[in-house]
Amino acid sequence: MSDRIYLSPPHMSGEELAKIAEAFASNWIAPLGPMVDQFERQISELVGIEGTVALCSGTAAIHLALELAGVKEGDIVFCSSLTFVASVNPIRYLGAEPVFIDSEPATWNMSPRALERALYEASMLGQLPKAVIVVHLYGQCADMDAIMKICREYGICVIEDAAEAMGATYKGQMAGTIGDYGVYSFNGNKLITTSAGGALVSNHTDKLDYARYLAAQAKLPAYHYEHNQVGYNYRLSNILAAIGCSQLNVIDERIALRRAVFERYQQALGDRPGISFMPDPLWGSSTRWLTALTLDPHLIEATPLDVVQELEVMNIESRRVWKPMHAQPLYAGCRYYRHEENESVSDMLFERGICLPSGSSLAVDDQNRVIDGVQSALRPVYSLS
Ligand SMILES: *Cc1c(COP(=O)(O)O)cnc(C)c1O
Repeated sequence: MSDRIYLSPPHMSGEELAKIAEAFASNWIAPLGPMVDQFERQISELVGIEGTVALCSGTAAIHLALELAGVKEGDIVFCSSLTFVASVNPIRYLGAEPVFIDSEPATWNMSPRALERALYEASMLGQLPKAVIVVHLYGQCADMDAIMKICREYGICVIEDAAEAMGATYKGQMAGTIGDYGVYSFNGNKLITTSAGGALVSNHTDKLDYARYLAAQAKLPAYHYEHNQVGYNYRLSNILAAIGCSQLNVIDERIALRRAVFERYQQALGDRPGISFMPDPLWGSSTRWLTALTLDPHLIEATPLDVVQELEVMNIESRRVWKPMHAQPLYAGCRYYRHEENESVSDMLFERGICLPSGSSLAVDDQNRVIDGVQSALRPVYSLS
């Protein structure tokens, strides 16, 4: 059996161990320390923002962003429906209620049209959300100009979930720096990794100071331990930050490699009738965290599940596109706004979509194995001559 091909494995630069040794030599083992400060500065410089708070996960960063937006029990928060569950769960940590917004075909991300309808209805009902969480799916930016315009009209705080999109651009700006708060993830399967970790970025540096305070158990300044608020233990460890500093040095290469993997798949499979790759609108550049494509059931007999299962037999890991949050048992009963009254784009993408192995360390031979695997899983259509 050939070696297993993973969807998105970690890809070390080779410099990480030396950087960890540096942290060990200084005996900064406990959470926080000089590597965390360096990691935060490097992130702020890379994406062009005033401030960064390094945290133990992307999920923690979303939780804190919602706190900074003032979300409280009983509040409403809008969120992209087509995403990983971690985008949404922090809404519930705070006792707030999610309302899900459909995708648009051009970006697969939050539909400005659905958002506008949802905000209009919410304003009529006097139930405007405290925040909108916009996800940049698979490294592709949502249409932020349209989304920011609508949210500013209603005075709503915008949180960008750029967990998969660090380094993606939208009209010259970096994903995560356009809204009020941006979130990155350094989980093992992301573009770069600290094994586990995340970051919250913003130009509101006073708010970030408050996030730092909340993330370190909300200790008030005193010679004893004084608290008047519930805090969290969410800061990143100095050792993990050392890994992050080395990984950040190669993020541009990593993104270029993922984009090259996408190009290869598209060249090899894109001509086949019924296959459509995730679009990349001209106003920016996706990280192509995962190569995603759809299979048109009118032209291709095999379903995404068939393909995933057949690739598994060949020891190749692939995945269907995220199952939308409005369709999850966990969030049954939550309100959902479709792109058009009679067209749910996220449901269609889930029905038809598949993600191929996309790691930046995926060798050309292995890319060929995936391509051959997909070709055979799709079952050639024999023409009767
Ligand atoms: C990975 C991911 C998260 C969560 O990040 P963690 O660091 O794993 O907590 C949130 N949103 C999206 C879209 C993700 O892909």
